[in-house]
Amino acid sequence: MNATVSVIGLGRMGSALARAFLKAGYTTHVWNRSPEKASALTGQGAIVAPSVAAAAAADIVVVCVSTYADSDRLLRSPEVAAALRGKLIIQVSSGSPNQAREQAQRAADNGTSYLDGAIMATPDFIGEPGGTILYSGPRALFEANLHILLALGGNPQFVGEDVGHASALDLSLLGQMWGALFGQFQAAAICQAEGIALDLFEEHRLAFQPVVEGAVVDLVTRIRDRRFAADSQTLASLDVHYGAFSLLLQLCGERGLHDLVPKAQDDLFRKAIAAGHRQDDFAAIAQFMR
Ligand code: NAP
Repeated sequence: MNATVSVIGLGRMGSALARAFLKAGYTTHVWNRSPEKASALTGQGAIVAPSVAAAAAADIVVVCVSTYADSDRLLRSPEVAAALRGKLIIQVSSGSPNQAREQAQRAADNGTSYLDGAIMATPDFIGEPGGTILYSGPRALFEANLHILLALGGNPQFVGEDVGHASALDLSLLGQMWGALFGQFQAAAICQAEGIALDLFEEHRLAFQPVVEGAVVDLVTRIRDRRFAADSQTLASLDVHYGAFSLLLQLCGERGLHDLVPKAQDDLFRKAIAAGHRQDDFAAIAQFMR
């Protein structure tokens, strides 16, 4: 509890992180490019740092700006680098796995400890029991600072010593999320084109959810075990999926709906079929994703 913390970047997420530290009783320094967002936190006890270098003088420096490139620009100056020596950076801006590895290397070259974090939550979850943040980097660093990480969310998760893995898992989970969200646009467009009320769709989507969830669990297991051939546990062959899927493409054509996403999926179906997997389990498509 004696450690001082700072939060650099006070957008929606950074402000929530700073408020969580203040609520947990940490002496919290804050800095933001647009100063009004920092002053807005003084009423809750935050100390406004006059510069990035001053914010970097805290024991633990949490960075939450839009991109790693923005973070680099802020942290690279000689004064900031000197202030960061011997400190811990917790980088929670979104970035790619390789960007995280580059940042960790630069921190190591500067004598700064580094943990990379991926926030799997919206700002309203920050500081709450269900707030999940994934961390990668040295496990010992994660464990030694767990009490501080717990202030940001009740569910801090260590996901690996490879510092790129928090970002990689983040993108993997988000990729799955965007698949579902873009699928939702598709679904709504079909309902609207066919005159089906979205309330009726929603009712049936919820009823269908356990079937979809079961199929996802089955896919993950099959991909992990490389069980691509159809077997007694196969839920539906690639051929059966493709029969129904072709009707989706047909409907898009008939109703003039945007079809680039299903066309990309069609490309994967066709590659798998051309390679002789038509009668295999639907999971066989996984082999064409790399
Ligand atoms: P935001 O509200 O748009 O805030 C962006 C922050 O980055 C602001 O503090 C902004 O400063 C700062 N910034 C941008 N470019 C900068 C630059 N060149 N130099 C200095 N500061 C700069 O975004 P946010 O929602 O807080 O998200 C911040 C990070 O958290 C992002 O990487 C985002 O992907 C990640 N994240 C967000 C959520 C979420 O639900 N919001 C969830 C998970 C992860 P100004 O105020 O001066 O513009």
